[in-house]
Amino acid sequence: MLKRELSPHPEPEWSPSSWRSKEIKHNVEYKDPAKLNSCLEKLRSLPPLVAEEEIDTLRRLLANASRGEAFVLQCGDCAETFSSCTPDSIQDRLKIILQMSLVLIWGLRTPIVRIARMCGQFAKPRSSETEVINGETVLTFRGEIINGISPSDRNTDPNRLVEAYFHSASVINYVRSLLSNNFADLKFPHNWDLDWVKDDQIRSEYKDIINRLADSFDFMQTIGAESQDTNTKSINLFTSHEALLLNYEEALTRKRAGKKPSKKSGSPLIKESLSFSSQTNLTKAKSSNEDKWYNTSAHFIWIGDRTRQLNGAHVEYFRGIQNPIGVKVGPSMHPDELVRILDILDPNFEPGRVTLISRYGANKIESHLPDHISAVRSTNHKVVWSCDPCHGNTTTTAEGIKTRSFDDIIKEIISSIEIHTRMNSKINGIHLELTGEHVTECVGGSQYLEPVDLSQNYQTFCDPRLNYLQSLDIAFKISNHYRK
Ligand code: PEP
Ligand code: MN
Repeated sequence: MLKRELSPHPEPEWSPSSWRSKEIKHNVEYKDPAKLNSCLEKLRSLPPLVAEEEIDTLRRLLANASRGEAFVLQCGDCAETFSSCTPDSIQDRLKIILQMSLVLIWGLRTPIVRIARMCGQFAKPRSSETEVINGETVLTFRGEIINGISPSDRNTDPNRLVEAYFHSASVINYVRSLLSNNFADLKFPHNWDLDWVKDDQIRSEYKDIINRLADSFDFMQTIGAESQDTNTKSINLFTSHEALLLNYEEALTRKRAGKKPSKKSGSPLIKESLSFSSQTNLTKAKSSNEDKWYNTSAHFIWIGDRTRQLNGAHVEYFRGIQNPIGVKVGPSMHPDELVRILDILDPNFEPGRVTLISRYGANKIESHLPDHISAVRSTNHKVVWSCDPCHGNTTTTAEGIKTRSFDDIIKEIISSIEIHTRMNSKINGIHLELTGEHVTECVGGSQYLEPVDLSQNYQTFCDPRLNYLQSLDIAFKISNHYRK
């Protein structure tokens, strides 16, 4: 059992590089340090990918979520690829997030905070350093910010850090432009792609819900009562990734010398929603003259389940930045350890500062989540409780294909909702690996995909993702659960 040594400021001298003195799990070695340094120098000279004001906006929205006044939908690819930086792929990914969020607004009757695993989700922790491809042992693919997908291109290359930056910039630029040009407008019903639903009854049930939600939003717009969530022409969307590669994150960590936050968000990507007007005091409290450090590679970053050691480099880096942060919480997390990680990452007890992304597996959640909820409740930390029903439910078929079952995913989500409710707590979000494309990587859902169908369009280089329809299925199922 871990001894709890409570110290709100375990290492007062934080700097963007203080992580370097700690043990770095999943570290990346480069053969040419001079080349690495010149790439990092280049990154340090480039503009931020997101604005500090936008990060502050997300902090306020996540504070709302921690109080149960908003629900977080965080989703996207397991690993983005450079080749998916195309207009079609970006539109598909954006479309599924927007559509799921609308279904969730309808079902949960609460504002949705959309956080995409996008615009920088390029680094992957892998369980094995090598893999066997066509009988040959090669280094594992670790995400395109580190090495290449092709088995012949698996050596680490620091130029990829700069390439990842420019691909992120290109994706975020297109997302901003789509969102400021009516892409989210519900008036385009052809965007709802329901022909893939096998069962006529389910299809007409979905169509009925979509018509009803389109009617309600139309009505809100007609009477001028729209909020940011119902005015689909100006919605909020934030970016996120696992901050695995601390070299990259450090180079994009920027100091905001105490200046007054501007009143406007300044970007069409983010418009403050009416729901956090009650949070103006919080804004003021954070606008002191102190220097603050922001990770400007994304609005939100998280620590993976494999790199969350209390004394490790990742926790050290994360504790010093202003961004709201996530921590993956798997079955190996001891409740005392959870309390200690919160004490380190959230020394000022800021509501919504930490999102706990639980990922146990459908059959393990009952033996872990209740103890984790009790542990957090014994503290003054106000977290966002999010459920990642994907990472604890990965299996391999008899043919050796990595997959996830839609039923296990739904089971973990519903168990999470029920455990929270039973314990007088509340689930505040979900975290999903999905794509807007019609891939065949997970089994089940209203397209009734079977293991034999997986080979039809299996595209992932990493974990299996829910496809467009399976993702919508999840949103409809959660919504129906709440509306019952
Ligand atoms: C991920 O979210 O892509 C991931 C690797 O998850 P975890 O850290 O929970 O295994
Ligand atoms: Mn994954």
